[in-house]
Amino acid sequence: MVRTFWPDWYFESYNAIPEGFFKRHGIKYLISDIDNTLVSYMDRLPTPNALAFFKRLEEEGVTLLLASNNSKKRVRTFSGKDIPSVYRAGKPATTHIRIMMHKEKVRYDQCAFMGDQLFTDCLAAKRLGIPMILVKPVKNDRALPIFGIKRDLESLILRKYLKEYSINCIQGRRGIASKDLE
Ligand SMILES: [Mg+2]
Repeated sequence: MVRTFWPDWYFESYNAIPEGFFKRHGIKYLISDIDNTLVSYMDRLPTPNALAFFKRLEEEGVTLLLASNNSKKRVRTFSGKDIPSVYRAGKPATTHIRIMMHKEKVRYDQCAFMGDQLFTDCLAAKRLGIPMILVKPVKNDRALPIFGIKRDLESLILRKYLKEYSINCIQGRRGIASKDLE
């Protein structure tokens, strides 16, 4: 049961994704969450760090799309005109994401999902049938009551995940961690 929530990869942040990773895994489209994945909740616009990541994706031939449960205003302000995005996605629901994928002609077999939450992002990725890149939250949100409970449950699930694959820190793909890290 808990395996349902296990990501395919787990990184400290998108900065830790190794060079050549996307090409190696045939990923040409990356659907990313915004809040606490690319930037903190407080950052209305992409930070220099996020912009550098966007540039990197472009250089590696990866098209970025955004899928957020946040409001239209938040998502549109962040994405600008150039990045396809869906707001109020209702993750783990996938309907709005599928519509965006269809519109942008995204192939499921060339696509990965990136996010910071197991019960929304990871589950959405599983439902879409695409691999999941989990990243640690940009900012600790445990102080908020609902998030605290959610993060505790996530920790429990991730502890098992990390134990099973003997990954100390947070860099590999389950099952093929060592190969992937070479
Ligand atoms: Mg998030």
